[in-house]
Amino acid sequence: MRLSRYFLPVLKENPSEAQIVSHRLMLRAGMIKQASAGIYSWLPLGFKVLRKIENIVHEEQQRAGHIPMLMPTLQSADLWRESGRYDDYGEEMLRIKDRHGRDMLYGPTNEELITDIFRSHVGSYKDLPLTLYHIQWKFRDEIRPRFGVMRGREFFMKDGYNFDLTKEDALHAYNRHLVSYLRTYERMGLQAIPMRADGGPIGGDYTHEFLVLAETGESEVFYDSAVTDLTFGDRAIDYDSVDQCAAVLEEFTSKYARTDETHDEALFAEVPEARQRTARGIEVGQIFYFGTKYSEAMGAKVQGPDGKTVPVHMGSHGIGVSRLLGAIIEASHDDKGIIWPEGVTPFHAGIVNLKQGDEEADAACEALYASLKALGLDPLYDDRNERAGGKFATMDLLGLPWRITVGPRGLKNGVVELTSRRTGESEEMPPEAAVEKIAQIYAGIA
Ligand code: ATP
Ligand code: MG
Repeated sequence: MRLSRYFLPVLKENPSEAQIVSHRLMLRAGMIKQASAGIYSWLPLGFKVLRKIENIVHEEQQRAGHIPMLMPTLQSADLWRESGRYDDYGEEMLRIKDRHGRDMLYGPTNEELITDIFRSHVGSYKDLPLTLYHIQWKFRDEIRPRFGVMRGREFFMKDGYNFDLTKEDALHAYNRHLVSYLRTYERMGLQAIPMRADGGPIGGDYTHEFLVLAETGESEVFYDSAVTDLTFGDRAIDYDSVDQCAAVLEEFTSKYARTDETHDEALFAEVPEARQRTARGIEVGQIFYFGTKYSEAMGAKVQGPDGKTVPVHMGSHGIGVSRLLGAIIEASHDDKGIIWPEGVTPFHAGIVNLKQGDEEADAACEALYASLKALGLDPLYDDRNERAGGKFATMDLLGLPWRITVGPRGLKNGVVELTSRRTGESEEMPPEAAVEKIAQIYAGIA
């Protein structure tokens, strides 16, 4: 993309409504615009990152064997009356009447709808195990929407639902989700720590939240610092293997890590004192096993191998896709702006032309732009007629991990400059070498 032709409404001033850095940077970098409280338009740059995050979630869900689909945002109240949640959900639910006076609602989550689909089409244990998921907009009329996309009213969420014959099978689905979530967050350059959580209104005995440590996080968390040494990495895993998935769960959840809802002072005291940590965290996902709560209430049953009809065991598993943009920025920025991890960056590299209009500089930039594109990469070329200082400030704000700087002086010696946004280190090299290096970096990223 050429910056002169893009739509990137960068703000020079710090917007006064933003209380935390990620919200401020998203507004300044022209990623979002508030439409009304807690509801945002996703401007082109923000939309690009949202799609990248969504794609990673899709890829990792499907790698784990989960099946994508799409359910609507508007739901009929009748289903929620069946489960008993129409009254329980309270003011957070946006209730709507259609022209016939029928009660509808904008879905805050989808347990009822998916259970209805399941009961209409599945009747035998032979169709199990089954995990369906979608990534769809949700609405929760939060009392205090704030922090930009972190606590919106309309937000984008992946929610998945497993259906299993037995509790044992459903717990394997739970473990499988935990593994797939670890991979998902790591691909976004994030450490999200599974912490024992509370079932809340959905209920359930088994639940973990995934938290990204950040001062601005809304949850208070308590953990053994040894959990921060764990990484899943690129190890191979067979998602069908009960033992392998259980071993990962054991590895990542056996050390103390809890949110304030389940915090236990006595247990925490058993952690060696030097490793006890109290901090704040951003919830970027949650997994639940809740047994037969919805299947019993809504009659989602299958015939088992012995011919008896039994309610299925279920769980639900969510990732805050739009919240993740804020969480990633909270975890990765500096005074100058965002620092995107390579896995989610809106553009792979920026090209800065120090002397727009200089024949040689223009030609070198065009050649770099074309070679990066030819390799399937997505560069952002700042081809505006602006001072170098302004161009650097914009690139730093946008946070692309790599910048190639092209100027007449370097070109005389046959070199351009390649700069890492994270370290600030620059290296001079021939343009082809810069392209080669960027291609290599991204080849290592799934
Ligand atoms: P919270 O405790 O932050 O209100 P929740 O536990 O009610 O969230 P879940 O039902 O677990 O949310 O939803 C799954 C994920 O969706 C959460 O882990 C979070 O990342 C994201 N999410 C929930 N509410 C919001 C919101 N208002 N804005 C943006 N993302 C949200
Ligand atoms: Mg939650």
